Amino acid sequence: MRFLKANKIFNGNFFLPDNSVLVLNEQNNLIEILPESKVSNQTVEFFEGIITPGFVNAHCHLELSYLANKIPVKTGLVNFIINIIKQRQQEYKKEQIIESAFNADLEMWQNGIVVVGDISNNEDSFKIKQNSKIKYHTFIEVIGLNPNNKSKIFDNALLLSNQLREFKLNGSIVPHAPYSTSLDLIQLIANYNRENNLPLSIHNQETEEEKKFFYGIQNDFKKLYEFIKVDISFFKAPNCSSLSAYLPYINNQKAILVHNTFSEQADIHEAAAKNCFFCLCPNANLFIENKLPDYSIFKSYTNNLCLGTDSLASNYKLDLLSEANLILKHTHTFSLENMLQMLTFNGALALNLHDSFGQLLINKNTGLNLISFIDSEIKLIKKII
Ligand SMILES: [Zn+2]
Repeated sequence: MRFLKANKIFNGNFFLPDNSVLVLNEQNNLIEILPESKVSNQTVEFFEGIITPGFVNAHCHLELSYLANKIPVKTGLVNFIINIIKQRQQEYKKEQIIESAFNADLEMWQNGIVVVGDISNNEDSFKIKQNSKIKYHTFIEVIGLNPNNKSKIFDNALLLSNQLREFKLNGSIVPHAPYSTSLDLIQLIANYNRENNLPLSIHNQETEEEKKFFYGIQNDFKKLYEFIKVDISFFKAPNCSSLSAYLPYINNQKAILVHNTFSEQADIHEAAAKNCFFCLCPNANLFIENKLPDYSIFKSYTNNLCLGTDSLASNYKLDLLSEANLILKHTHTFSLENMLQMLTFNGALALNLHDSFGQLLINKNTGLNLISFIDSEIKLIKKII
């Protein structure tokens, strides 16, 4: 048995009363939280700093880890996607792709991350995720703007989803983004996930071009579709924001909107009314568009915020604290408590894994990190378990 105490203990949602002691058994499961007065005849380990549950990275693409340092920075989303496609067309060795994913998984674990919501377009990373100490929820991602192809695309995703299950990994099917996935396909996926109580994720309002695309104003996506030689003459701009176009299909279910770099107050209001989660990935936003969201528009919705690293194709490291610190440096909108909740409970709730992770839970090992908070910067001192 271990008895742990620190300057402060954060339970995933708030700080515990001072002098709280965490009692762990030999399996590192939390068995009790006691006031120190009740454990006076035991050896209590004291930690200088703040103890938190393990961190939850709500948005990553492990399978893209081999593209670290391969993509030019700050070129805008459309050029970023074109560069990713060009790289994926090159003949990279499977071993290199797998080794990079293995290292990225280890990096996240060492950075105090215990849960990841991870996008997969293929099976490259499944084995790594199966053998990882990290708990993964895999988002099988689909792309297809032509509504006529929706059934074929969805059936293919179900096949990949079955493959995922053979690795004993949990996951769900998700649309890539509103500019790349038809509303019909988004509806089909949303209905399927709702019926099966599975979380959905979608890249949302990551570029100004997305707005223009939905309002029928000239935009860069023409260049993207020309590059991939896909005729989109069938596409009729709905003349509303991308979010307003697909939100009617999200009902009574978990949905994680990722990036939100160009979202406006009205968008966030509308999505929060449907209890959507907003996943912030600031380092990737700077890498791709050199722009950060207006964080003040999320002030009333801190319970709906979580954090993501995105992939090593659009980030220099997979370190959730680097994301948190970038936000803290850029805005005073959020308190330390808000930020710790984004790092832990909110992501677990968004991924439907809050019964096992993201908060201090009796009879569970949700990971324990020891952090410091000095000069508005959070640092990982060490992983306690
Ligand atoms: Zn992404």
